[in-house]
Amino acid sequence: MRCLNFSIRCGNLFLMTAPKAALFDLDDTLAESFQPPSTSMVEKLGVLLTKMPVAIVSAAGYGRIERDFLPILEKSPFVKNLYILPNSSAQAYSWHDGWNEEYSLALTHEERHRIREAIEKSAENADPRALILDREVQIAYAAIGMEASLEEKKSWDPDQSKRKALKVRLDAMLPEFEVLIGGMTTIDITRKGISKAYGVRWLSEKLHISPGDMVYVGDALYEGGNDAVVIPTGVRTRPVSGPDETEKVIDELLAV
Ligand SMILES: [Mg+2]
Repeated sequence: MRCLNFSIRCGNLFLMTAPKAALFDLDDTLAESFQPPSTSMVEKLGVLLTKMPVAIVSAAGYGRIERDFLPILEKSPFVKNLYILPNSSAQAYSWHDGWNEEYSLALTHEERHRIREAIEKSAENADPRALILDREVQIAYAAIGMEASLEEKKSWDPDQSKRKALKVRLDAMLPEFEVLIGGMTTIDITRKGISKAYGVRWLSEKLHISPGDMVYVGDALYEGGNDAVVIPTGVRTRPVSGPDETEKVIDELLAV
């Protein structure tokens, strides 16, 4: 069922009251995959900040969010309402006279070396463009690199079978880490227990708002999708098909 208003039944969720905080995935939710967001999206987020805490929860690194969102949003008098949780929530940032790192769950040098080795061993017949992106708190494996076209990325592993098989191999080699199926062509590896769900729980404690009073908006809330890990936290969820629908969701949030 398509939900037009947060006071009516939305899928299998009753959203009887307005949420007290809104969390957003980035790729294919706030912006097209690996593209900057539209100006209208950033402006709408700015308006939403005047109403409630807003968080961007993404497997992307801090740098991309800093570049694409913060120049405009940090001019808002309500910037204190903005939380950035990059690298699958392995880090969190909040505003206090500038951006402050709330936490950073870095992997040790030795752990990162082990993870990189495991990826190299388990990624059989890897594409020559494959990349390992080491961001200290998260290691991302981009199976066809960063420069492939959106069409190629979309068609590379549409049923996740390649990434699921790689995850099985990596889980066996790296049982003490979290191996997450990421975007269309990526696997993300963090400390055990670190995923977007960790970020939802952390934000809930930080804001003293129960997960059930927050809404998480994402394009991959379906079973096996990289947003579905948040569901067990009890956060309300709002699936979207892409940025156009996300803008409508923000309008709905502003209207209630
Ligand atoms: Mg996404």
